[in-house]
Amino acid sequence: MNDLNRCIELLERKEKLVALLAPSFPVMYDYPKIVARLKALGFTHVIEVTAGAVRTNEAVISLLKANPEARFITSPCPGFVRLVRKSYPQLLPYLAFKADSPMIASAKIAKEKYPDCQTVFIGPCLAKKLESSEDYPDLNLLVLTYRELDSVFQKFNIGDDVDATGAAFDVAEAGTRIYPMDGGLTITSGLRDILKEEEIRIVSGYKNIPAVLEEFGKNPKIRFVDVLFCDGGCINGPGMVSTLTLEERKKKIHDFAAQVKEIKDCHSTTGITPEKAL
Ligand code: SF4
Repeated sequence: MNDLNRCIELLERKEKLVALLAPSFPVMYDYPKIVARLKALGFTHVIEVTAGAVRTNEAVISLLKANPEARFITSPCPGFVRLVRKSYPQLLPYLAFKADSPMIASAKIAKEKYPDCQTVFIGPCLAKKLESSEDYPDLNLLVLTYRELDSVFQKFNIGDDVDATGAAFDVAEAGTRIYPMDGGLTITSGLRDILKEEEIRIVSGYKNIPAVLEEFGKNPKIRFVDVLFCDGGCINGPGMVSTLTLEERKKKIHDFAAQVKEIKDCHSTTGITPEKAL
């Protein structure tokens, strides 16, 4: 049974479910209404995946500090990881696998906080299904795209008219809300405080990746490559349903990140407020 049908079955059986909502969600859904809609569907808790991104950032910074000579390529993007496995296996040792992706880190937060719940990641990415089933089968994590979530809303007749009064993430993190755009990890982790600009490369879009990997191979001064497979980052993932341009999608993310009220409502372990990150 695929993850979509499994999720529908669990909702019909009224099992306890926790949703992990990817940071790109503001491109498609309004907050806090999306939380109200997920709870109306039957999800008992909703975690903002930006909380997992904080753990990813902390792990990346620790890796760099513990290995001052080492060079790393980011690994949270399963589309890119699969490209490396297939076409650039010589680069596998550089992938920073010791840092969990935000999805995996969030799934671990869910296991800690709500151990009796089935966890469902909801995001823009098809390759996350492979990351879950092939790389982390023990986490038993279901993965839905936003496109699939829309079909679930439709099936259970949960529209935009739900009452969102009092709705809010059960676990939230404002400091990493620009994560789904290219360079999100570099900006929100504070990487630029420990590496010089010429030691960092940021790239998104599969057509742009080969040139940067070639440069990484030739130039040992490059210590860190922050890479996302989709052009512009996860805001342009294949599971997204949107007619917005890339610039309009970025604005949606910036606007949500700039909701200052949210900062008061949730913790920011990065110490990076949305204003600083913008
Ligand atoms: S950049 Fe694309 S392939 Fe990579 S994690 Fe984001 S949506 Fe998935």
